[in-house]
Amino acid sequence: MSREVRVRFAPSPTGALHIGGVRTALYNYFFARQNGGKFILRIEDTDSQRFVEGAEDYIIESLKWSGIEIDEGVSVGGPHAPYRQSERKEIYLKYAQELVDNGWAYYAFDSQETLDALRAECEAKGETFSYNYSVREKMQTSLSLPSEEVKRRLTEDNHWVVRFKMPENEIVEMTDIVRGDMSVNTSTLDDKVLFKAIDELPTYHLANIVDDKLMDISHVIRGEEWLPSLPLHYMLYRAFGWSEIQPTFAHLPLLLKPVGKGKLSKRDGDKLGFPVFPLRWVAPNGEASHGYREDGYLPEAFVNMLSLLGWNPGNDQEIMSMQELTELFNIDKVGKSGSRFDIEKAKWFNAQYIKMTDNEILATELEKTLEDKGISFNHAQVIKAVGLVKDRATYLSDLFELSSYFFLAPESYDAKVVAKFWKEENAIHISKAKEMIIAYCEGLGKYDATGAETLIHEWIKTNGFQMGQIMNTLRLVLVGESKGPSIFEIIDVIGVDAMSSRIDSAIEKLG
Ligand code: GLU
Repeated sequence: MSREVRVRFAPSPTGALHIGGVRTALYNYFFARQNGGKFILRIEDTDSQRFVEGAEDYIIESLKWSGIEIDEGVSVGGPHAPYRQSERKEIYLKYAQELVDNGWAYYAFDSQETLDALRAECEAKGETFSYNYSVREKMQTSLSLPSEEVKRRLTEDNHWVVRFKMPENEIVEMTDIVRGDMSVNTSTLDDKVLFKAIDELPTYHLANIVDDKLMDISHVIRGEEWLPSLPLHYMLYRAFGWSEIQPTFAHLPLLLKPVGKGKLSKRDGDKLGFPVFPLRWVAPNGEASHGYREDGYLPEAFVNMLSLLGWNPGNDQEIMSMQELTELFNIDKVGKSGSRFDIEKAKWFNAQYIKMTDNEILATELEKTLEDKGISFNHAQVIKAVGLVKDRATYLSDLFELSSYFFLAPESYDAKVVAKFWKEENAIHISKAKEMIIAYCEGLGKYDATGAETLIHEWIKTNGFQMGQIMNTLRLVLVGESKGPSIFEIIDVIGVDAMSSRIDSAIEKLG
């Protein structure tokens, strides 16, 4: 029987979740869903130094906004609860001790001063200090000290750690879905700390391996920055005797800066002028960073754009719903090389999604803004307005920008347009047009855009007036400048009464 797919997203609550992290979560989610498996959210908060208040809530909110449903984990619970590592504290020491007992780890008592001195000594020689097979016997450890002394030191205070005893000169053979087969000589690796008595907490490596085992994780899909830890993780599975059941690994390529070298970092957002976080984030020191949500992106556009950075369906298809992404995503097709982040592409996706979004949904967005600004509106009017302008919006916030004249009569008029079209004869013509439209509506019992258009166009032609002159003058008085859809559509949204009063007030203001 094949193994149940169980994947986890395991962020550390050290600040806002980077969009690279969201992409990792998405790939895990697609993989879980397409295999009928489970998506687990585990919070890896064993590094108390880096813990940031509010980060966990931010992560949960970001996943929710992105449409990722958590099957098990913090905020939802599950059979392996708790899912927050700080609440699993008592689990890990036992495992660290198990490794000491079976010879795969040892206690180390070296003071910070000793370690700093050794590091400095190496640096002076132009070398890097590595706590490994070549030095461990010379250090203050359970490998070198008599057992009575070890016992004494373990009980005397809590200045000890457990270190992994990385073997010398062995080849670790590893397999990764994205990177293929790899091997590393263990002599290049150091004896990583697994557990620290001072805070009774495991380090990332131990907690991560133990929890992946206890939570029966089948696949570890994570960022490439964890690739250097893979040999140690392989060795840990071996040391525990879990190699047979260790997860399958997939290390995802980095998201790269739009230009130049290197990975897209958390600080790039401010530097490069686009968000690197899904939601707006206010750091504990009050510093605020932009988020896609608050910048007017639709979550579907954000998810679609992000999903294609590192994978594509192998054809030209770009617009894909969560459902389609889940069906089409193929972990075997994730590329090795990093993907450059392209904000223009992100904007393009958003514009496409705004176009495709139901007017009802967009109307709700626009109504929030109108309410905030204290502008009165009626729902039917907002629906029509968004339908007329959405093709030109890049951000949801553009909807107001593009449609405000439907709700607010112009307070001023574009001077250039005034100079060009505001002439006495045009003013007379638009007054006449106004009366004709009012009379036409009264006869019909309602306003009809096509009917009104035919009527006015016929009248212009019959009288030999200039179409452009009259239409542009009408646009000027209704909008205040030369933008917007067809005049007759505009009248449909603002209503005949507003048309009439806008014409009257323009005549009054412009003379
Ligand atoms: N806590 C690690 C992180 O913050 C998890 C890495 C992993 O998925 O193993 O990304």
